[in-house]
Amino acid sequence: MNYHIGNMLIYQEFNGKNECPLCRIRNILEKRLVDQYLNESVMEDFQRRMVNELGFCSHHTEMLRSRPNKLSLALQHITRLTALKGKIEVTEDAKAADRMADTFMRSGKTCVICEGVEVNMIRYYKTVAEMYCAEEKFKGILLSTNGFCLEHFGALLKYAKYARGKRKEYVYELTKLEKEVLTKLLEDLQWFAAKHDYRNADKPWNGAENALERSVYKLHGIEAK
Ligand SMILES: [Zn+2]
Ligand SMILES: [Zn+2]
Repeated sequence: MNYHIGNMLIYQEFNGKNECPLCRIRNILEKRLVDQYLNESVMEDFQRRMVNELGFCSHHTEMLRSRPNKLSLALQHITRLTALKGKIEVTEDAKAADRMADTFMRSGKTCVICEGVEVNMIRYYKTVAEMYCAEEKFKGILLSTNGFCLEHFGALLKYAKYARGKRKEYVYELTKLEKEVLTKLLEDLQWFAAKHDYRNADKPWNGAENALERSVYKLHGIEAK
């Protein structure tokens, strides 16, 4: 079992207090990486080359820019822009233009932080399944959550084989949980909509007042800031 990657975060966030424990874990990983890229002292040559090659997406650029260390981001931009400028070929050649079109149309979307987060998240998807297989009490912990955003629900299903001998049971519990959570959410959304009818104005919310926020969370996850 891979205990080294931090089952701690899984125990910490699988607590029934959020709409997707994996979004919460991803956001923690993203913040760690953002801080790491702003800390010059830990920027090794390899990381610097990766920044030159991939840069940052707009979401992570905004996270970097919202931190106080502007100098560090400016230096990252100097190396990234210098690398991209080097790829602009002053030319009349149509093929070279096509090559450049491909490069530059995606140059603002590739991202070292996205890649780093994705690599780590795949380990988490696998570890959740491994924990289900290895730890008797983990089923209860899983069932105490409010399910997952739909992207992370899909990711857990994709890596369900890591539950090994308990794969079928794991898939059954995951799918049953998510379906039940969405059934409850739909009831709440329907009541949320019905509350907009003046005849229901004085009736109690019954917990539906945040149904729209919860459904945005389930459909799109929640982003780190
Ligand atoms: Zn999520
Ligand atoms: Zn990114």
